[in-house]
Amino acid sequence: MKRVVLTVTLAATLISGAACSKDNDQSSSAADKSPSFTIGIKYDQPGMSVMGADGKPRGFDVDTAAYIANNLGVQPDHITWKEARTEQREDMLSSGAVDFVVASYSISAARQKQVSFAGPYLMTGQDLLVRQGETGIDRPEALGGRSVCSAKGSTSADKIKKDFAADVNLTARDTYSQCVDDLLAGTVDAVSTDGVILAGYAATHPDQLRVVGHPFTKERYGVGVKKGNIDLQTRITGAIQAMIADGSWQRSVDANLKRGGYQPLPAPPVFNAPDAPIAAGDSTKLDPNLVKTGNDMITMVNAKDWTSLAAVSCPEAQETLRGNVAQLVPQNDTNLGPEVKDVSYDATSTGLSQTSPDSATLLAHITYTNVPDKYKQYFKDIDFTNTLSRRDGTWMLCAVNADFVES
Ligand code: GLU
Repeated sequence: MKRVVLTVTLAATLISGAACSKDNDQSSSAADKSPSFTIGIKYDQPGMSVMGADGKPRGFDVDTAAYIANNLGVQPDHITWKEARTEQREDMLSSGAVDFVVASYSISAARQKQVSFAGPYLMTGQDLLVRQGETGIDRPEALGGRSVCSAKGSTSADKIKKDFAADVNLTARDTYSQCVDDLLAGTVDAVSTDGVILAGYAATHPDQLRVVGHPFTKERYGVGVKKGNIDLQTRITGAIQAMIADGSWQRSVDANLKRGGYQPLPAPPVFNAPDAPIAAGDSTKLDPNLVKTGNDMITMVNAKDWTSLAAVSCPEAQETLRGNVAQLVPQNDTNLGPEVKDVSYDATSTGLSQTSPDSATLLAHITYTNVPDKYKQYFKDIDFTNTLSRRDGTWMLCAVNADFVES
């Protein structure tokens, strides 16, 4: 079992506020103190994010960015859009050129060393785009001796290099639209990146191009923020949760991403993403009451006894717990269809440590069972790191962090 891709915290939404951080006010003029954002997006990915001739961008990532800005108190005319090509995203965040990036940006362990992610807000998988007449390429293993184009600095190019390089002649370009031009011109045999992006190009050239439709990775898109800007990261996560909860997310998916028969995956469970798991402390001396409370909490989760769990949770954790119970318990998840009615889960404790007389860490793991194939990407195992605090002599659950686990 390998833990990758995503480190997430649930202790998020309650600290969300409407106001922008000082960092984000920099571009406001003296006369106009309204908060503003500079947001990095793609300019050439149809359906996801395209800059229009009128200077207005459109697409699902743009809707997501605009929703986040509005939720954080920034008006549309106080947003400055900047093109953030695949390879530029980390630098644009580190240098402060943008406040955040919403640009088909996969959360990955390698990137989390350089930037922080809020989300995820969309799931997809890497696929192949070919010319309509192409009969030989039906999966990446069939690329032997052929040429494929992808964007520099992308997880897509990395995947080809890592797993298919022996057979494939990889061309790396600055953007996917350059790759698509190469494909149309016949200088490459395929373009490879996420299915949701390729579907937009196929819909733009329906007579010439088609998506193979055989995804071979799992991508989770996150909103990139400057490494360590936990405040902004947390507020963006709250905004994404609100966008899914009020139906705006689904409306934008329907309007932008369903062209050409592409079937988007349901909205992912949204957490918040610290960059490193909380380290467990010294587990040699455990308060017996702590052990009992920890075991009781696991029992409550398995029994779906949320009333009892709320009773042993700190006030500041209540809203987060409610939100995540709504998303993590399959039958409560309004994104999902009736196919998931038999999905169940099993929570187990995987460690308990006491870091001081009044604080402790409870590790837990959730495994989902009876998951239909269609939802395998959705129900990943989750490792939880729960922070317990002793308040007035009673152990309480005060924060929750989670990692998706890839098997
Ligand atoms: N999601 C992949 C990545 O972040 C490919 C798409 C892109 O380059 O924007 O690298």
